Amino acid sequence: MQQQFDIVIIGSGMGGLICADILGREGYKVCVLEKNKQAGGSLQTYVRDKVIFDSGVHYLGGLGEGQNLYQVFKYLGLIGRLKLQKMDEDVFDKIIIQNDPKEYVYAQGYENFIRHLLKDFPHEEKALRTYCDKIKEVCSRFPLYNLRSGGDVNEKTSVLEIDLQQFIESITSDKKLQAVLVGNNMLYVLQGNKTPLYVHAMILNSYIESSWKCIDGGSNITKYMVQNIRKHGGDIRRNTEVKKIVVEEGKVVSVELANGTHVYGKNFISNMHPVRTLEMTETELIKPAYRSRVKDLENTVSSFIVNIVFKKNAFPHTKHNYYYQKEGHVWHPAAHTDENWPLAYSLFFASSSKTEAYAESMTILTYMRFEEVEKWAGTFNTVANEVDRGKDYEAFKTRKAEKLISLVEEKFPGLRNAIQSYYTATPLSYRDYIGNDDGSMYGIAKDYRNPLKTFISPRTKIPNLFLTGQNLNLHGVLGATMSGLVTCMAVLGNEDIIEKIRNA
Ligand SMILES: Cc1cc2nc3c(=O)[nH]c(=O)nc-3n(C[C@H](O)[C@H](O)[C@H](O)COP(=O)(O)OP(=O)(O)OC[C@H]3O[C@@H](n4cnc5c(N)ncnc54)[C@H](O)[C@@H]3O)c2cc1C
Repeated sequence: MQQQFDIVIIGSGMGGLICADILGREGYKVCVLEKNKQAGGSLQTYVRDKVIFDSGVHYLGGLGEGQNLYQVFKYLGLIGRLKLQKMDEDVFDKIIIQNDPKEYVYAQGYENFIRHLLKDFPHEEKALRTYCDKIKEVCSRFPLYNLRSGGDVNEKTSVLEIDLQQFIESITSDKKLQAVLVGNNMLYVLQGNKTPLYVHAMILNSYIESSWKCIDGGSNITKYMVQNIRKHGGDIRRNTEVKKIVVEEGKVVSVELANGTHVYGKNFISNMHPVRTLEMTETELIKPAYRSRVKDLENTVSSFIVNIVFKKNAFPHTKHNYYYQKEGHVWHPAAHTDENWPLAYSLFFASSSKTEAYAESMTILTYMRFEEVEKWAGTFNTVANEVDRGKDYEAFKTRKAEKLISLVEEKFPGLRNAIQSYYTATPLSYRDYIGNDDGSMYGIAKDYRNPLKTFISPRTKIPNLFLTGQNLNLHGVLGATMSGLVTCMAVLGNEDIIEKIRNA
């Protein structure tokens, strides 16, 4: 007789793992199918020159005792196992702006945050207090974010339609302060007059509450969750790509794998991008109008990354990140041309158990649109399926990396001399490893002008097919975790899990 799982999960990103871990604890027989060799999606790490690099977890917020991510991680038994390093209380991010020698400081804790920014903006206390109060107020409207059950869906409606740009411009006319307050916009991909305040608020709030690095890489989150899932009887199959979601008589009965075999289940959760999920699901239950509505939603831009391995004791390690922006490009940092690229970058120093005073490595992250690598879109390259994209692609990457390094070196003289080797990743790398169409960093871009249109429900028209992951509510490790919880509640049909997490 064929094996039938209670829950089949397509994809082992943060959202998929949260669902598998929680539902496994609830007694469901779970099977996770992951196309890659490594589980974790954007939590994956890779090793270059014996150094670990994160693909998509440079730092985490909300991990202070009692805070939202802390409570979920505590419930999942990750606290105490994960090696976390608190970032510098007085500076977790530094904002640097072209032609300005100052370094603007984001500190942990709201009063501390205000106190530090007041040093550079002494006349802006009112604006800073209004900013912080609004961030907290907006966040308080999201019940799940506060691990509160029984919330009223209308609670948040009034804050979904606030334009981030309009809000920031309304609290201060000081252009520099405006730029500083959206300085770490790479955390959410700022689009002026589009990005809603709530996206900025939920992300900034979590880091202002507390900021952390995962020592030796974010893939440790995956490692411990995979252990949990197996402990609760779950099955995780890597190198297992789903090609089709098979619907019969109004329900999903199985998924078809790349090798032609099927995995059967009672319920199915897709951690893939919703567009991919719908493409794989042939059924009249999902109307063409819904399919094209989801397909037409804009994705956040992709990224270009330079991962640097430093020579021994050559470059100082700092416990904070840097975010740079070019003067005059505050609201549209991804709207670059080939000439003025990049308009923004961020620098992350990995936290390693090996070294403290000197950095072993550094990641430079900047925006890159998929169209910039479209020429090579026909090539697919992963560890399991190595393909050479060609000499002109290599030349393109080198040209971009050298330009980026030169810009960073303006701020950090001597950088180039400290480099032992560097490695790059483009939108194609993210497309091939994550499985979306365009290497988008954070999935569907939210829009304050029509917020409900950019919210994706965990439920679909097929009663036993659910969605999860960053495309639902919010991106980031915290956002995908919250999305995982939303999906679990939809599967379980109640909110009891919130209470369990709050009381963990
Ligand atoms: C460059 C970058 C930097 C980031 N930095 C941070 C940070 O510092 N802090 C933070 O909190 N967040 C950060 N993020 C965001 C965060 O990593 C993501 O929002 C989050 O991990 C996404 O989780 P997800 O559940 O949506 O799954 P994803 O990570 O999107 O994973 C989806 C999974 O599904 C699998 N899959 C897809 N198709 C199939 C198929 N057909 N069959 C089987 N499996 C399939 C994929 O292989 C993948 O494993 C960053 C992201 C990027 C790209």
